[in-house]
Amino acid sequence: MALQVEKSRISNPIDFDRNGRQAGYLRAPLSRNTSGWGVVEIPIISVKNGSGPTILLTGGIHGDEYEGPIAISRLARTLDPARVQGRVIMIPAYNIPAVLNDTRLSPVDNRDMNRCFPGNPKGTFSEMLAHFLDGYILPLADVSVDLHTAGHSGDSAPSTNMHYLPDPAMRKKTMEAAAAFGAPYNTVFWGVDEGATFTSCVERRGAISLGTELGGWGRVNVEGVRIGRRGVDNILKHFGVVEGKPETAQRDGSAGTRHMMVRDPACYSFAPAGGLFEPTNLVGEEVKAGQPAGWVHFVEDVDRDPIQVNYHRDGVLWMSAGPGRVARGDTIAVVMSDYDDKLAAG
Ligand code: CA
Repeated sequence: MALQVEKSRISNPIDFDRNGRQAGYLRAPLSRNTSGWGVVEIPIISVKNGSGPTILLTGGIHGDEYEGPIAISRLARTLDPARVQGRVIMIPAYNIPAVLNDTRLSPVDNRDMNRCFPGNPKGTFSEMLAHFLDGYILPLADVSVDLHTAGHSGDSAPSTNMHYLPDPAMRKKTMEAAAAFGAPYNTVFWGVDEGATFTSCVERRGAISLGTELGGWGRVNVEGVRIGRRGVDNILKHFGVVEGKPETAQRDGSAGTRHMMVRDPACYSFAPAGGLFEPTNLVGEEVKAGQPAGWVHFVEDVDRDPIQVNYHRDGVLWMSAGPGRVARGDTIAVVMSDYDDKLAAG
């Protein structure tokens, strides 16, 4: 496999074929004023034993999303190789310059790494990272779980997510994996700005791809961390990498995950102007088409009325903008409805 991949400039200390626990740092070259030959060190942990599938857990692809890095780091410190049948590759904070800068975009090249795939080893820093993940790590993985939140620019109902997969067998396997992760919701969606995302690369390589949205608004969501930690444990159990049965009981008393979908553009509401956004609902609440998603206020103008922005679909609020100011064209609400396989296929 490596023969077809253009050589990466990133060096890797892990022998992925070796049994046991290995932990170290990928070294990505970054020439800078303080060091022309400097590197950026990215934590990576591999735990392998016996035989079984390879699970890849990634966090910190966006730097202002905290629940994933916390959940993966904790697993990486505690996972006993003797309990493992297969391999778990953990990269808790892959886009480390953005993670340490607490921003979605990389401070090195001002790029959204999750729009840089499949990347380029000779490109910008984010493109180099994307290329290594796609070319060197993904070919090892049977299952990829990439943990995200809505970052500083929004909040999300704690959920796994996946693209609608036209292949029924792959769709079923992925939905079963999502149900095993055990977030309150699993959202099937059709993508907004796809092709250059990590998820698209995982799918191209034929592995099972799950994402998460575990919170946002620039804080550590307590419930998001709990769901994320339980979710990665559950995924290892579901695929037989560790023993046990996934625990999927929900806070509201339901037995498991509610499968949802975001089928069409009417699920999204956008800010018609820049201003201070006052949302009507919290994520996870039931909403109705025609009801206000919120108001854009112009507090700098004494007599200017706020603009009301409505929902265009009935359902549950998946994503909400904020905190505070929005720009014209920002997504201010995404509504999901219960998953229906016939409607989804139509
Ligand atoms: Ca994200």
